[in-house]
Amino acid sequence: MTLKLGDVHREAIRRHSAGDYPSECCGVLLGKAEVDAKRVTEVVALKNLRHDPGRAQKLLPVDDPVRETERNRFLIDPLDQLRVEKDARARGSEVLGYYHSHPDHPARPSIYDREHAWPWYSYVIISVERGVPKDLTSWVLAEDRWAFRAEQVEIVV
Ligand SMILES: [Zn+2]
Repeated sequence: MTLKLGDVHREAIRRHSAGDYPSECCGVLLGKAEVDAKRVTEVVALKNLRHDPGRAQKLLPVDDPVRETERNRFLIDPLDQLRVEKDARARGSEVLGYYHSHPDHPARPSIYDREHAWPWYSYVIISVERGVPKDLTSWVLAEDRWAFRAEQVEIVV
């Protein structure tokens, strides 16, 4: 599978990641799944629920709340998730994956990312170095869930 991402979508992710620096930003990729590619038609920016540690901790507790914060963890509000999925379906598109940023860390999935991922979906990661967006990569969980595989990203105009 290839992830086909519009230039405008890449720009939207870059802007979001820079705007939320030094926190992790997150959002959803919507579009259509084709035979050998996922074609993104829309990017929806969401708030990182780790910004609200009390509520986030109730929904999906982290082991170490002092070290695991909005700066290195993200969490999508389940209510946002439901709303976005419903809106997407109404417009004939589907959730293809998610994106989040790695402030001052490489654009590679962490163990935490892998443990909280589902198969099939594309997980786009953008690295942000000192506030400046850098590499954008995409990852898909292997069927056995033991590894993330790099997914080809094709930027389309
Ligand atoms: Zn991550």
